Amino acid sequence: MPGAGQSWGRYPRVAQGLTSLYDRQRPLPHFDGSALPHGNGRSYGDSCLNPGGILLHARGLDRFIAFDPATGVLHCESGVTLAEIIDLALPQGWFLPVTPGTRFVTVGGAIANDVHGKNHHRTGSFGHHVRAFELLRSDGSRRQCRAMDDPQGWFAATVGGLGLTGVVTCAELQLRRVPGAAMEAESIRFGSLPEFFELSASSADSHEYNVAWIDCLASGRHRGRGHFTRADHAPQRAEERPRAPGRGLAMPLTPPFSLVNRFTLRPFNALYYWRQPARHKRFATHLLPFFYPLDGIREWNRMYGPAGFLQYQCVLPPGAACTGVAALLDEISRSGSGSFLAVLKEFGNRPSPGLLSFARPGTTLALDFPNTGPDVFRLLDRLDRIVDEAGGAVYPAKDARMSATSFQRAYPRWREFADFIDPRFSSGFWRRVTE
Ligand SMILES: Cc1cc2nc3c(=O)[nH]c(=O)nc-3n(C[C@H](O)[C@H](O)[C@H](O)COP(=O)(O)OP(=O)(O)OC[C@H]3O[C@@H](n4cnc5c(N)ncnc54)[C@H](O)[C@@H]3O)c2cc1C
Repeated sequence: MPGAGQSWGRYPRVAQGLTSLYDRQRPLPHFDGSALPHGNGRSYGDSCLNPGGILLHARGLDRFIAFDPATGVLHCESGVTLAEIIDLALPQGWFLPVTPGTRFVTVGGAIANDVHGKNHHRTGSFGHHVRAFELLRSDGSRRQCRAMDDPQGWFAATVGGLGLTGVVTCAELQLRRVPGAAMEAESIRFGSLPEFFELSASSADSHEYNVAWIDCLASGRHRGRGHFTRADHAPQRAEERPRAPGRGLAMPLTPPFSLVNRFTLRPFNALYYWRQPARHKRFATHLLPFFYPLDGIREWNRMYGPAGFLQYQCVLPPGAACTGVAALLDEISRSGSGSFLAVLKEFGNRPSPGLLSFARPGTTLALDFPNTGPDVFRLLDRLDRIVDEAGGAVYPAKDARMSATSFQRAYPRWREFADFIDPRFSSGFWRRVTE
């Protein structure tokens, strides 16, 4: 089936074919050229696109196979979304051990990008909680891959392996116990980057979830100001059960130009910074709006207009983080381009399980840039230079333009990984960063 393709950033747009998978017992359908598994398209750039080839849509592999409410071990097909897991497990007292900022990703997509959440400093990345999965290759062979028994390295290659080692058909995950759907949280306004690092260090042991929003356009003495949020699952009394949010709003159409622009960004960021007049605020909330604030507006990615946007997420190693993040913010503020929601967070020291996993010790900054043409690409190249010099890495799940040199420096095990690639699988991203 022919189809035009785009990812969550709506850039780039490519021509590619689509074919859907529904039955995990069957071999892959016949295809010409190259193929790439596809989850729910929540990656931003081109790591989930295969220009000129085929996407194997795995969302149809959406069955739960077994769930043990005594141990929290879940066996499900790879197209099941995190939202569906929450619907099944939360009423039974279980939740995801690691979750990204949207629940509309599939288990296969979460494995293939070894995604991280706000608790990386405590619990590592998604792959740490995957016990096993089945990998289906284009030659029809099947591999049972186990975290604790991986002599040939297929588990480590596939976790964070960008969908290139084969189709994950089903997986066994270890969920974590929670007392209920309630969170207790604190939001602390801070005025500078050193303050952020102090808050992050002092909250690492005391709180499971830590993350900050920063005003990426503030400069001079306001550079690095923002709000630090720290939170934990709360004990829940039946009479205080927090209400789950409703279906939320939707962006009804794509406006002809980006609503995120020079005229809206600075006032939005300043207003957002001052929305909390007190320096310190405690609040209780349902876990859905806490973990997934953006899921409250369906198709929010349309807000950036027809040209789409580029998300930029990097991590800088601990020794270089404070000066490196300051240098990134200076570049961004000078450009006047940037994000409503710039996120800053510190990763912990737990080594990631995948050969190509992004998460590593250090500080990660994530933000969106409207696609305004060559200027924004030049800005992102300047940000790459800062990241390269600091010895950091850019996240493939969010990337549509990093150079082969940057990728190969930041992911030195890529050649070792290449031996595991299915000879009939490829992606726009992989061709760009390796050929
Ligand atoms: C609002 C928002 C917030 C986000 N927040 C975070 C965050 O906090 N942390 C984070 O790490 N990421 C975050 N992301 C990125 C997102 O979690 C990842 O890009 C995720 O991998 C998307 O999963 P998907 O199911 O949509 O897969 P796709 O985007 O469709 O595919 C992602 C990759 O998975 C591969 N793949 C998909 N299914 C399979 C399968 N069955 N077998 C093998 N490979 C497969 C694809 O080939 C591709 O390489 C966020 C994205 C959005 C839109």
